[in-house]
Amino acid sequence: MNSSIVKVQHLSHRYAIQWAIKDINFELSRGGVYGLLGANGAGKSTIMNILCGVLRASHGDVFIRGVNIRKQPLEAKRFIGFLPQHPPVLGDLTVEEYLRHSAHIRLMPADSVKDATNEVMEKVAVTHFRKRLIKNLSGGFQQRVGIAQAIIHKPDLVVFDEPTNGLDPNQILEVRKLIKEIAEERTVLLSTHILQEVQALCDHVWMVNEGRFVFAGSMQEFDNQIQPSSIIISL
Ligand code: ATP
Repeated sequence: MNSSIVKVQHLSHRYAIQWAIKDINFELSRGGVYGLLGANGAGKSTIMNILCGVLRASHGDVFIRGVNIRKQPLEAKRFIGFLPQHPPVLGDLTVEEYLRHSAHIRLMPADSVKDATNEVMEKVAVTHFRKRLIKNLSGGFQQRVGIAQAIIHKPDLVVFDEPTNGLDPNQILEVRKLIKEIAEERTVLLSTHILQEVQALCDHVWMVNEGRFVFAGSMQEFDNQIQPSSIIISL
């Protein structure tokens, strides 16, 4: 059985005249945590936004379980959950309202929304805040709600764009623990500019520099081949 769930072929994108990514190719197999490691502006969000169907690539193709996201976006997006770096601000909704809304826009059957919402709130430990407005939660709990909307429809692949950005050290550890738990059931792709984050979470890593991959391999190969001093990453 072919366990590939994502195939990215010759992906390039430019904003106006500036190329943000150039000829990116990769494949994700089912299971494991994959990391995109790169400095600010390296091209990580551009890759993720294209992969999740938020941005249309200038060139190249993305196949999710064999479905071309450019040609059949709704079909392909069923298999993906996405927590963007800057999620839409829906702070005037309660946790429960927001998650129900997330389930509806994912076209989940109406009779499954209540149970799916309860289940995912338990999973990320926000049930006791279900009636709380999102804007009144701490950054760590807001991020948990963001993670919940990304997994409510039980996608094969969950994509997290810099999931611990802006969190305090305790919240970072809690979000990493949650990502590890999610990775027991689903394939995870995350981006970060923090070396320790890929070391703590990832099985495979791609290093991105100026829109190109400069390393691709297992975490062990990364540790063997890449000197930390050669990585220019902001902390
Ligand atoms: P960060 O961690 O800062 O988000 P990143 O690795 O995710 O960085 P991208 O956001 O993909 O990088 O940006 C790649 C390049 O494309 C950068 O030079 C950035 O300035 C540029 N860029 C990103 N979005 C836009 C946009 N909407 N318009 C113009 N240029 C953009």
